[in-house]
Amino acid sequence: MDTRIISNPSGSDLDLLAETLRSGELVAIPTETVYGLGANGLDVEAMDKIYAAKGRPSDNPLILHVPDGESIRPLVQNISATAQALIDAFWPGPLTITLPKSDLVPDRATGGLSRVALRCPDHSICRDLLKRAGVPVAAPSANISGRPSPTTAQDVYHYMNGRIPYILDAGSCTIGVESTVVEVHDDKVIILRPGGITQSMLEDVVPTVIYDTALINESTKPKAPGMKYTHYAPDASMYVVVGKPSDVVEAFKELSKGYKGPIGCLVSYEIHALIGMDERFQCHCFGPYGDALALGHDFYKSLLHFNANHVTLILAEGVEPHGFGVAVMNRMEKASSHHVIYK
Ligand code: AMP
Ligand code: MG
Repeated sequence: MDTRIISNPSGSDLDLLAETLRSGELVAIPTETVYGLGANGLDVEAMDKIYAAKGRPSDNPLILHVPDGESIRPLVQNISATAQALIDAFWPGPLTITLPKSDLVPDRATGGLSRVALRCPDHSICRDLLKRAGVPVAAPSANISGRPSPTTAQDVYHYMNGRIPYILDAGSCTIGVESTVVEVHDDKVIILRPGGITQSMLEDVVPTVIYDTALINESTKPKAPGMKYTHYAPDASMYVVVGKPSDVVEAFKELSKGYKGPIGCLVSYEIHALIGMDERFQCHCFGPYGDALALGHDFYKSLLHFNANHVTLILAEGVEPHGFGVAVMNRMEKASSHHVIYK
């Protein structure tokens, strides 16, 4: 199968992609978080193609993407006041809510769970396509399962060339880290996966916001099935260090002892300046020290870059797990198989 990248889409391009989705084929779509691998979320065979193209475990449910809050009505049993308040506050945006599903939603979309995950992306071209498609679009990240998520159309092409007919190219994703996933109850929300909408942002709308215990205690079974799998892993082994700049540099020197290189370094400008000349290091500077948004934006991109350059070791600077830093460190923990050192 030839894979076509469509950039600067015209209205008729979007109509073609909408028809492709409706007819049960896959289209990779841009969102503000990462690129998604889209399929008609009411069509079981179309969703089977997602699992086949990604090699995704079949119990890992999909997020259904909609162009606006109204579009979820037929997909859920009812929209509680809490759910409506979250939708009003955060949609369009990087918040996925799970609600009890209606009979219209196939079990294939939910991995057999009674709740369906729903999101309205803050990306105008994506929402335009969703509107034209007229069906909810199931879309997990458009990577091969377990690998770093794609944040450009070229990253998607790298993974999906020959597996899907179309990639809609809308440049680089603005956030670069997947959505926050929350389970919505009448009186509380439970964060199943941290993301762009933080705990304190949610607390401004709903009084009780707690983390799924599996996010705190690894031995507990997560409510979001996807959280139990290996995720985001680069080819090289990876270590993450969080601390004062001088301590991070010290730790990098220790960890790289004996490695011939090349070694991929994901660092802030400040730490880059402190590292000095070491020809084994290939540095990717993400931005200012401690800037979680900048680090999140560049994280997957840098891992894919290091893969392409066949580095043997990755040393990455982390951030304190506060605010958006919780989401970034969650991805760094998983990508590095928990090789995270707090100095
Ligand atoms: P991805 O599509 O790759 O961003 O992954 C979607 C995430 O949402 C995974 O961690 C899923 O396990 C989670 N998810 C999707 N649907 C549900 C649901 N009904 N209940 C709990 N978690 C869900
Ligand atoms: Mg994913």
